[in-house]
Amino acid sequence: MNDLSEHHLVHRVGWLRAAVLGANDGIISVSSLIVGVAAAPGASAAGVLIAGTAALAGGALSMAAGEYVSVSSQADTERADLAREAAELARAPAAETAELAAIYVQRGVMPELARQVAEQMMAHDALAAHRRDELGLADEGGSRPGQAALFSAFAFTAGAVAPVLVAALVARERVTLAVPLVALLLLAVLGAIGAIAGGASIARGVARVALLGALAMGVTAAIGGVMPGGGA
Ligand SMILES: [Zn+2]
Repeated sequence: MNDLSEHHLVHRVGWLRAAVLGANDGIISVSSLIVGVAAAPGASAAGVLIAGTAALAGGALSMAAGEYVSVSSQADTERADLAREAAELARAPAAETAELAAIYVQRGVMPELARQVAEQMMAHDALAAHRRDELGLADEGGSRPGQAALFSAFAFTAGAVAPVLVAALVARERVTLAVPLVALLLLAVLGAIGAIAGGASIARGVARVALLGALAMGVTAAIGGVMPGGGA
Protein backbone atom coordinates (compact mmCIF):
# COMPACT_ATOMS: atom_id res chain seq x y z
CA MET A 1 0.00 0.00 0.00
CA ASN A 2 2.75 2.38 1.03
CA ASP A 3 4.98 1.34 -1.85
CA LEU A 4 2.18 1.88 -4.33
CA SER A 5 1.35 5.46 -3.31
CA GLU A 6 5.04 6.37 -3.24
CA HIS A 7 5.46 5.01 -6.75
CA HIS A 8 2.53 7.10 -7.96
CA LEU A 9 3.89 10.25 -6.31
CA VAL A 10 7.22 9.81 -8.08
CA HIS A 11 5.32 9.29 -11.31
CA ARG A 12 3.36 12.52 -10.87
CA VAL A 13 6.46 14.56 -10.08
CA GLY A 14 8.02 13.18 -13.26
CA TRP A 15 5.13 14.37 -15.41
CA LEU A 16 4.97 17.70 -13.59
CA ARG A 17 8.66 18.35 -14.21
CA ALA A 18 8.21 17.44 -17.88
CA ALA A 19 5.23 19.82 -18.12
CA VAL A 20 7.18 22.67 -16.48
CA LEU A 21 10.17 22.11 -18.78
CA GLY A 22 7.97 22.04 -21.89
CA ALA A 23 6.17 25.24 -20.85
CA ASN A 24 9.52 26.93 -20.08
CA ASP A 25 10.65 26.01 -23.55
CA GLY A 26 7.52 27.48 -25.12
CA ILE A 27 7.76 30.73 -23.17
CA ILE A 28 11.48 31.31 -23.79
CA SER A 29 11.65 30.36 -27.46
CA VAL A 30 8.45 32.10 -28.60
CA SER A 31 9.03 35.24 -26.46
CA SER A 32 12.58 35.49 -27.76
CA LEU A 33 11.42 35.19 -31.33
CA ILE A 34 8.65 37.79 -30.85
CA VAL A 35 11.04 40.22 -29.13
CA GLY A 36 13.63 39.74 -31.86
CA VAL A 37 11.13 40.44 -34.65
CA ALA A 38 9.46 43.31 -32.76
CA ALA A 39 12.82 44.95 -32.02
CA ALA A 40 13.43 45.36 -35.75
CA PRO A 41 12.26 48.92 -36.59
CA GLY A 42 10.45 47.94 -39.79
CA ALA A 43 8.39 45.04 -38.41
CA SER A 44 4.60 45.49 -38.53
CA ALA A 45 2.16 44.32 -35.83
CA ALA A 46 0.87 41.66 -38.23
CA GLY A 47 4.41 40.50 -38.97
CA VAL A 48 5.17 40.15 -35.26
CA LEU A 49 1.99 38.11 -34.70
CA ILE A 50 2.61 35.84 -37.68
CA ALA A 51 6.16 35.19 -36.47
CA GLY A 52 4.92 34.38 -32.94
CA THR A 53 2.17 32.06 -34.15
CA ALA A 54 4.50 30.26 -36.55
CA ALA A 55 7.05 29.84 -33.74
CA LEU A 56 4.33 28.36 -31.52
CA ALA A 57 3.23 25.83 -34.15
CA GLY A 58 6.75 24.96 -35.26
CA GLY A 59 8.00 24.57 -31.70
CA ALA A 60 5.06 22.38 -30.62
CA LEU A 61 5.47 20.10 -33.66
CA SER A 62 9.22 19.88 -33.14
CA MET A 63 8.74 18.98 -29.46
CA ALA A 64 6.20 16.29 -30.43
CA ALA A 65 8.45 14.82 -33.12
CA GLY A 66 11.52 14.84 -30.86
CA GLU A 67 9.63 13.21 -27.99
CA TYR A 68 8.05 10.61 -30.28
CA VAL A 69 11.41 9.59 -31.75
CA SER A 70 13.15 9.54 -28.37
CA VAL A 71 10.46 7.50 -26.58
CA SER A 72 9.97 5.02 -29.43
CA SER A 73 13.68 4.36 -29.89
CA GLN A 74 13.96 3.83 -26.14
CA ALA A 75 11.02 1.39 -26.32
CA ASP A 76 12.65 -0.43 -29.27
CA THR A 77 15.85 -0.88 -27.28
CA GLU A 78 13.92 -2.17 -24.26
CA ARG A 79 11.91 -4.58 -26.42
CA ALA A 80 15.09 -5.97 -28.00
CA ASP A 81 16.71 -6.39 -24.55
CA LEU A 82 13.62 -8.21 -23.26
CA ALA A 83 13.46 -10.53 -26.29
CA ARG A 84 17.13 -11.43 -25.79
CA GLU A 85 16.46 -12.01 -22.09
CA ALA A 86 13.42 -14.23 -22.80
CA ALA A 87 15.47 -16.32 -25.25
CA GLU A 88 18.24 -16.77 -22.67
CA LEU A 89 15.71 -17.73 -20.00
CA ALA A 90 14.32 -20.46 -22.29
CA ARG A 91 17.78 -21.67 -23.34
CA ALA A 92 19.66 -21.66 -20.02
CA PRO A 93 17.35 -21.28 -16.99
CA ALA A 94 19.96 -22.55 -14.51
CA ALA A 95 22.55 -20.00 -15.64
CA GLU A 96 19.90 -17.27 -15.47
CA THR A 97 18.99 -18.26 -11.90
CA ALA A 98 22.67 -18.08 -10.93
CA GLU A 99 22.93 -14.70 -12.65
CA LEU A 100 19.98 -13.35 -10.67
CA ALA A 101 21.40 -14.73 -7.39
CA ALA A 102 24.77 -13.08 -8.13
CA ILE A 103 22.99 -9.73 -8.60
CA TYR A 104 21.35 -10.03 -5.16
CA VAL A 105 24.69 -11.02 -3.58
CA GLN A 106 26.25 -7.93 -5.11
CA ARG A 107 23.49 -5.87 -3.48
CA GLY A 108 24.35 -7.27 -0.05
CA VAL A 109 22.22 -10.44 0.30
CA MET A 110 23.94 -13.54 1.73
CA PRO A 111 24.67 -16.16 -0.99
CA GLU A 112 22.37 -18.88 0.39
CA LEU A 113 19.42 -16.49 0.78
CA ALA A 114 20.15 -14.88 -2.62
CA ARG A 115 19.95 -18.33 -4.19
CA GLN A 116 16.53 -18.95 -2.57
CA VAL A 117 15.21 -15.54 -3.58
CA ALA A 118 16.42 -16.05 -7.16
CA GLU A 119 14.73 -19.46 -7.36
CA GLN A 120 11.42 -18.10 -6.08
CA MET A 121 11.59 -15.12 -8.43
CA MET A 122 12.26 -17.45 -11.36
CA ALA A 123 9.25 -19.58 -10.37
CA HIS A 124 7.00 -16.54 -9.95
CA ASP A 125 7.79 -14.44 -13.06
CA ALA A 126 11.27 -15.02 -14.41
CA LEU A 127 11.17 -12.38 -17.15
CA ALA A 128 9.80 -9.69 -14.80
CA ALA A 129 12.58 -10.41 -12.29
CA HIS A 130 15.26 -10.11 -14.98
CA ARG A 131 13.67 -7.00 -16.47
CA ARG A 132 13.67 -5.26 -13.09
CA ASP A 133 16.82 -6.57 -11.40
CA GLU A 134 19.16 -7.26 -14.31
CA LEU A 135 18.13 -4.74 -16.98
CA GLY A 136 16.92 -2.14 -14.47
CA LEU A 137 13.80 -1.32 -16.52
CA ALA A 138 10.66 0.12 -14.97
CA ASP A 139 7.29 -1.63 -15.21
CA GLU A 140 5.89 -2.32 -18.64
CA GLY A 141 3.59 0.31 -20.12
CA GLY A 142 5.81 3.22 -19.11
CA SER A 143 6.68 4.25 -22.64
CA ARG A 144 3.86 5.43 -24.90
CA PRO A 145 5.41 7.50 -27.70
CA GLY A 146 2.12 9.01 -28.93
CA GLN A 147 1.05 10.06 -25.47
CA ALA A 148 4.50 11.50 -24.68
CA ALA A 149 4.49 13.43 -27.99
CA LEU A 150 1.04 14.93 -27.35
CA PHE A 151 1.99 15.81 -23.80
CA SER A 152 5.18 17.63 -24.89
CA ALA A 153 3.39 19.54 -27.65
CA PHE A 154 0.65 20.54 -25.21
CA ALA A 155 3.12 21.71 -22.52
CA PHE A 156 5.07 23.77 -25.07
CA THR A 157 1.86 25.32 -26.43
CA ALA A 158 0.61 26.17 -22.93
CA GLY A 159 3.78 28.23 -22.39
CA ALA A 160 4.00 29.68 -25.91
CA VAL A 161 0.41 30.91 -25.99
CA ALA A 162 1.11 33.60 -23.36
CA PRO A 163 3.66 35.70 -25.31
CA VAL A 164 1.57 35.38 -28.51
CA LEU A 165 -1.53 36.64 -26.65
CA VAL A 166 0.41 39.54 -25.13
CA ALA A 167 1.79 40.49 -28.55
CA ALA A 168 -1.76 40.41 -29.95
CA LEU A 169 -3.26 42.51 -27.15
CA VAL A 170 -0.75 45.33 -26.54
CA ALA A 171 0.10 48.17 -28.90
CA ARG A 172 2.88 47.41 -31.41
CA GLU A 173 5.36 49.79 -29.73
CA ARG A 174 4.90 48.11 -26.33
CA VAL A 175 5.61 44.54 -27.50
CA THR A 176 9.36 44.65 -26.75
CA LEU A 177 8.60 45.64 -23.15
CA ALA A 178 5.35 43.75 -22.39
CA VAL A 179 6.35 40.35 -23.81
CA PRO A 180 9.63 40.04 -21.81
CA LEU A 181 7.88 41.24 -18.64
CA VAL A 182 5.08 38.68 -18.88
CA ALA A 183 7.52 35.98 -19.98
CA LEU A 184 9.85 36.59 -17.02
CA LEU A 185 6.89 36.61 -14.61
CA LEU A 186 5.63 33.27 -15.94
CA LEU A 187 9.14 31.78 -15.93
CA ALA A 188 9.53 32.81 -12.29
CA VAL A 189 6.21 31.16 -11.37
CA LEU A 190 7.13 27.96 -13.23
CA GLY A 191 10.61 28.01 -11.66
CA ALA A 192 8.97 28.15 -8.23
CA ILE A 193 6.57 25.29 -9.08
CA GLY A 194 9.44 23.18 -10.39
CA ALA A 195 11.51 23.88 -7.27
CA ILE A 196 8.62 23.00 -4.94
CA ALA A 197 7.89 19.78 -6.87
CA GLY A 198 11.53 18.76 -6.78
CA GLY A 199 12.05 19.79 -3.17
CA ALA A 200 14.76 22.28 -4.20
CA SER A 201 15.48 25.90 -3.27
CA ILE A 202 12.70 28.16 -4.65
CA ALA A 203 14.94 31.25 -4.92
CA ARG A 204 17.55 29.34 -6.90
CA GLY A 205 14.93 27.75 -9.18
CA VAL A 206 13.33 31.12 -9.92
CA ALA A 207 16.63 32.96 -10.41
CA ARG A 208 18.06 30.33 -12.75
CA VAL A 209 15.14 30.18 -15.16
CA ALA A 210 14.46 33.94 -15.10
CA LEU A 211 18.13 34.74 -15.78
CA LEU A 212 18.35 32.29 -18.67
CA GLY A 213 15.07 33.60 -20.11
CA ALA A 214 16.28 37.21 -19.85
CA LEU A 215 19.53 36.23 -21.54
CA ALA A 216 17.68 34.54 -24.43
CA MET A 217 15.41 37.57 -24.97
CA GLY A 218 18.36 39.96 -24.67
CA VAL A 219 20.21 38.10 -27.40
CA THR A 220 17.26 38.08 -29.81
CA ALA A 221 16.44 41.73 -29.04
CA ALA A 222 20.03 42.61 -29.92
CA ILE A 223 19.64 40.61 -33.15
CA GLY A 224 16.44 42.55 -33.89
CA GLY A 225 18.44 45.76 -33.56
CA VAL A 226 17.27 47.31 -30.27
CA MET A 227 17.90 46.41 -26.61
CA PRO A 228 14.71 45.59 -24.60
CA GLY A 229 13.00 48.77 -23.40
CA GLY A 230 15.62 50.83 -25.16
CA GLY A 231 13.45 52.94 -27.36
CA ALA A 232 10.63 50.96 -28.94
ZN1 LIG B 1 19.19 -12.56 -17.28
